[in-house]
Amino acid sequence: MRTVTGREKVSEMCADLLQDESNLSGAWCEAAAWPQNTDEAREYITECAKTGMQLTVSGGLTGIAGGALPQGGSVISASALKDIRLLKNGNITAGAGVTIEELNSFVSVNTDGLFYPPDPTEDTASVGGTIATDASGADSYLYGATRKWVEGLEIVLPGGRLLSIKRGQHTFENRTCTHPVLGTLHLPPLRREQPSKNAAGYYLREGMDLIDLFIGSEGKLGFITEAELKLASEPMYVIDLAVFPENAGSFWELYGAMLHADRPLRIRALEMMDDMCMDFLRSHPGELPLPPVNAVFCLILRAEADSDEHLEETLETLDEMLVTYDSNPETAWGGFEPSERKKIKDFRHALPEAVNHCISESRMKYPSIHKYGSDGAVEPSRLKEYYTRTRCILQESGLPFLIFGHAGDGHIHANAIPEDPQQMHNADRAMREIAAAAVAMGGTVSAEHGLGKMKLDYLELMYSEDEIRGMEAIRRVIDPTHLMGPGLTSKHFDCLFKYFDC
Ligand SMILES: Cc1cc2nc3c(=O)[nH]c(=O)nc-3n(C[C@H](O)[C@H](O)[C@H](O)COP(=O)(O)OP(=O)(O)OC[C@H]3O[C@@H](n4cnc5c(N)ncnc54)[C@H](O)[C@@H]3O)c2cc1C
Repeated sequence: MRTVTGREKVSEMCADLLQDESNLSGAWCEAAAWPQNTDEAREYITECAKTGMQLTVSGGLTGIAGGALPQGGSVISASALKDIRLLKNGNITAGAGVTIEELNSFVSVNTDGLFYPPDPTEDTASVGGTIATDASGADSYLYGATRKWVEGLEIVLPGGRLLSIKRGQHTFENRTCTHPVLGTLHLPPLRREQPSKNAAGYYLREGMDLIDLFIGSEGKLGFITEAELKLASEPMYVIDLAVFPENAGSFWELYGAMLHADRPLRIRALEMMDDMCMDFLRSHPGELPLPPVNAVFCLILRAEADSDEHLEETLETLDEMLVTYDSNPETAWGGFEPSERKKIKDFRHALPEAVNHCISESRMKYPSIHKYGSDGAVEPSRLKEYYTRTRCILQESGLPFLIFGHAGDGHIHANAIPEDPQQMHNADRAMREIAAAAVAMGGTVSAEHGLGKMKLDYLELMYSEDEIRGMEAIRRVIDPTHLMGPGLTSKHFDCLFKYFDC
């Protein structure tokens, strides 16, 4: 097993471990290890437990919330866990360090007409990281988040014990689950059920499967070394379409109609970009075609068809819907041919690239500048209200911004693009206000990126002190000496000894 010891050596030899896509600065650690199998991971974690060395788990480092960035202690990286196998039951097992790109190519070469649905956009993300954040993506509208595709997990627990769990083996009954390795875990009562798309706090539902506690736990309950994953059948056709309504009213009507669309439409993804995105793309032209001149909003949808006949019906229905809701089909882009689909993919990617370019320019003058992105979601029926509130908060803060996201899931990313330190301060405040607005509408402060280190304090916008203590109590049972995830701990963790009188 490769290991590096010494703060300076780590910074010199493996600086990549100290940076992810959150742009959070100040990460450091005293040691790092890259186990190549579960036994090596157990050996390292046991050794760390003996010496009291805290551990941060690192995957593909594409996280946006800074969860994989260490604040001291040691880093254990999953990047050398690359085993991947097809199982007799049609599932696959993949090492935690296998990237989504590697997984997809393995599946396309070794199976006939199957695919792995979770697609968190950035395909250098790892299997372990996507499970630890319960990653979603555009296609989650139809296929759900990563959780739905995880059938089994192998986890090295804090202290070095091995936990092997399969879905269906252990569930919480009367809010309690007793497991031979873990002991007895209690679910804290919540004032309201967690929203359907949620990445803030542990997954907590009466009757839930034990495996779901670990999915989305952001590296705080153990080191995932391997996962058993389900696959789905590829549809015969996938159609990508970008529609450009010429006023906001038409956009929201079309969106509402798509949300309630029935057969023949089988919509896989329903995404949006607002007028600020259109203006931003026009004022930062790249090599890609610009949105049509009169386009105000953009609705991007992906649909599936199972036969030639179904394809024809789908295209006809989409055409009719565009006409009914006042969106000119002539200005829409896309289709089912690879080149048509690529145009839409490139168009979607052009936006974050242009935003990143602007941020890099501002950083030349102010190195601490970074992008701020919201990750809140509400029920889709309240998206228009949430979008309007988000926009109002950002307008009042005087920041350059744009809003896009997974409209079908009621989930938007407002990007604030600060140009100086004062605007950074305003962006920070605005993002917290936007997160609180989502909660006030029954939604979540984070629907897919997780809270990591950047948004840990948002937890208290969504949960009461008792609820957070209840979550930390679960963690205490699994990690009594607080070995995993330094910096990923709510302030309520330390008062738990008092709370539970132990
Ligand atoms: C351009 C871009 C687009 C993105 N789009 C999306 C999107 O559409 N949807 C979405 O959900 N996310 C998106 N993301 C965010 C990111 O890709 C996901 O959060 C992803 O799941 C992180 O995986 P990773 O392997 O990079 O994890 P890392 O960044 O390395 O770690 C993320 C968290 O998981 C923990 N972790 C990592 N590996 C393990 C393990 N083996 N065991 C236990 N814990 C572990 C870490 O401790 C950390 O808390 C995007 C990121 C970028 C850069």
